[in-house]
Amino acid sequence: MEKFKGIAAAPGISIAPAYKIGKEEFVIPRLQILPEEVPVQIELFEDALIQTRKEILELQKRISSEMGQEEAQIFDAHILVLEDRMIIEEVIARLKREHINVAYIFDEVLKKYIDIFSKIEDEYLKERITDINDVGKRILRNLLGKQRKGLGDLKDLKERVVVVAHDLSPSDTASMHNKNVSAFVTDIGGKTSHTAIMAKSLEIPAVVGMGSAINSIQSGDILIVDGSMGMVIINPDEPTLEEYRRQELKLKGIVEKFFLVKDKPAVTQDGKEIELSANIEFPDEVPSAKLHGGAGIGLYRTEFFYMNRNDLPSEEEHYQAYRYVAEEMSGYPVIIRTIDLGGDKFLSQFQIPHEMKPFLGWRAIRFCLARPDIFKVQLRAILRASVHGKLRLMYPMISGIEELIQANGLLGEAKEELRREGIRFDEKIEVGAMIEIPSAAMTADLLATEANFFSIGTNDLIQYSLAVDRANEKVAYLYEPAHPAVLRLIKRVIDSAHEAGIWVGMCGEMAGEAAMVLILLGLGLDEFSMPPLVIPEVKYLVRLVTIAQVQEIAKEALKLSTGKQVEEFSQSKLREILG
Ligand code: PEP
Ligand code: MG
Repeated sequence: MEKFKGIAAAPGISIAPAYKIGKEEFVIPRLQILPEEVPVQIELFEDALIQTRKEILELQKRISSEMGQEEAQIFDAHILVLEDRMIIEEVIARLKREHINVAYIFDEVLKKYIDIFSKIEDEYLKERITDINDVGKRILRNLLGKQRKGLGDLKDLKERVVVVAHDLSPSDTASMHNKNVSAFVTDIGGKTSHTAIMAKSLEIPAVVGMGSAINSIQSGDILIVDGSMGMVIINPDEPTLEEYRRQELKLKGIVEKFFLVKDKPAVTQDGKEIELSANIEFPDEVPSAKLHGGAGIGLYRTEFFYMNRNDLPSEEEHYQAYRYVAEEMSGYPVIIRTIDLGGDKFLSQFQIPHEMKPFLGWRAIRFCLARPDIFKVQLRAILRASVHGKLRLMYPMISGIEELIQANGLLGEAKEELRREGIRFDEKIEVGAMIEIPSAAMTADLLATEANFFSIGTNDLIQYSLAVDRANEKVAYLYEPAHPAVLRLIKRVIDSAHEAGIWVGMCGEMAGEAAMVLILLGLGLDEFSMPPLVIPEVKYLVRLVTIAQVQEIAKEALKLSTGKQVEEFSQSKLREILG
């Protein structure tokens, strides 16, 4: 028996024999061609592009009817790569100049782009390499007249297997829409790759980023894949097998139960409706938010828009992104958080001086108020997009009333400019303040006079109130969402908001932790925003309880003296409620 740890990409447990797939490799000849052969080579290239486009559209259609539109949309990115003028023009220009066969040139150009992408320090962009690779391989297959190989014919498999591969493209993963693929394990890949998104949609447990550990697996080895913990066990002994078989059955039942309610309203047994929404970093996470039953976007972290580029995003770029999210969420609220740069999120194009304590430094709203030229571009874009759906906006890292007044002042200026230019926007757009600094929590009653809502950012609120760096593993044991100080601050914020007649949500990770949800519901939190995948579980829980019941839980929790006690107490209540 051997155990390996990778990255948990899609939750669930599976036990099955390994089915190993080799790397897909092409031998591409380098052939000198005559100048008069160039037009034929161009035609060959164009035919391959047309054929590839046809294949992708067919695959997209099949996925759309078998799995749904959201999954099929993943192939939109492939079409974009296929139609990329820069790649096409470079291939044709080199073909005309160098007189070498088109397959060879295309492969070279493809490798160049993959190399450029892999050097960019951005996890998300890096993972888009899979899209380029996937489309590139298809084009090469068509150029070389080869049949698709590599995955073999999974449909003919007679038994359930764990697919083990160096990497899997989204279309490889989509083709696993087949009962016999029970899990997959890959050598490379990350949490936000389309392959991982696809695995979550297919509900196939997946562990990625196993590295060379994958070499220890042979086809036919029995594997336990624990996609929730990111663990792979090769040839387990009997007691381990028994343990995981029990866990597998239990987990399957639980997840199925949660998913049954994903499209039902999030209403407590006694009729209180709770808003459950999703946190996103990029617009293309919207399909996942909808798939998991999110009734809105409670946090759109827009700062990712500014990272790893050499210029600033234009007003039009912002506008198009926000408009897309607003329209896709068709009438559900979308809260756009204005940029939260600084701390651990830096920009290459700004010369932000190195600070001793960046989390306490020039960050978020502080940066925006100092650079109204940059801030107003975003404010104008949010306002312009507000006519396309139900947009709200909120400011991060508000520490006191002056900052909120100042930010609202700039928003007022942006509104006035648009009015003068005759550009429409939602005059009643709701404006909120994130509560993630203890001083904001303590003065929530004052802030409520200048805000339409609050959203509690516990990721930061916990680090600032307990003086525990959220990114330092040495003090991670002190980072306690259930700490009495944190609970008291949260209670204070909720009570202040309600006394002032405004609603209050939470978009820190705590809002998606089931045991904590019981206490937060009992404290009267109105909106919970979380990673899409956990929405069904939280919805299931909300639908099981009454407000009186959770109020009692919150009251008891507030009497306890340590985070550990609160954690144990809330976990025991959760077990009781979930049976
Ligand atoms: C938070 O601090 O809880 C939050 C949601 O913001 P971020 O994690 O982006 O700092
Ligand atoms: Mg924060």
